[in-house]
Amino acid sequence: MLIDLSCPIELRGYELLHDDTGVTRARIDLFNVSDNTICAYAGVVRWSRDETGEARNDSIRVDQLDLEEGTAFKLSLSTNQLRYADRVEIYFTSVEFYDAPAWQPDDSDMVDVGEQKQLEGAELTRLQEAAGDDALMYPQTQDEFWRCVCGRINPLSLDTCVRCRRERQYVLGELNRRAVGMSPEQVWARQKRQARAKAASRQMVRARKDTSLYIALLLAACAAFIALAMWMAWSV
Ligand SMILES: [Zn+2]
Repeated sequence: MLIDLSCPIELRGYELLHDDTGVTRARIDLFNVSDNTICAYAGVVRWSRDETGEARNDSIRVDQLDLEEGTAFKLSLSTNQLRYADRVEIYFTSVEFYDAPAWQPDDSDMVDVGEQKQLEGAELTRLQEAAGDDALMYPQTQDEFWRCVCGRINPLSLDTCVRCRRERQYVLGELNRRAVGMSPEQVWARQKRQARAKAASRQMVRARKDTSLYIALLLAACAAFIALAMWMAWSV
């Protein structure tokens, strides 16, 4: 995955909706990760549909904004030119501020960050207990960037995460896998324990069912015996 580490606007997610005719509407979650108030931005929106390989680019410009640093905002878009689009991406071409020079992309700021997989299950719960509900993965340092627990990729030149404002030193030192997480061996041992507990509980349920059946048969036999004894007594 290629990302532009210098871009002042971060795309955090989106939701796509289609109407009966295939028109696609997108609600896109964006975030101002810069230290300045954004007054306008422009970019290229790329709609695509995986199934057919079709794609369409639209240019956009949004102005008269007042987006303070560290704020989330939304962008609503739609297209009737690519029916049933199932993906939308934005490549920002300029971001303008009230009190700072405009930002424009530079190819040298693009880095390939590979696949960033979120934690799941018990490991994620454990990390969130230590770091907070926004934590998604263990921090990491690579050649060109460091990754925060919130999942944001930051350039090595920054000591604070641009998304959650956590300190790099604290994140890497206190919230790493060794400090709060479980080793792969511990995760494996835990899964094994859970599987054993599940098997034992299944066995107990089966044993309980067998006991109930024996008691029912015994009671039926007793009832039959008493009925026979009474019948014989009555016959005499
Ligand atoms: Zn962060």
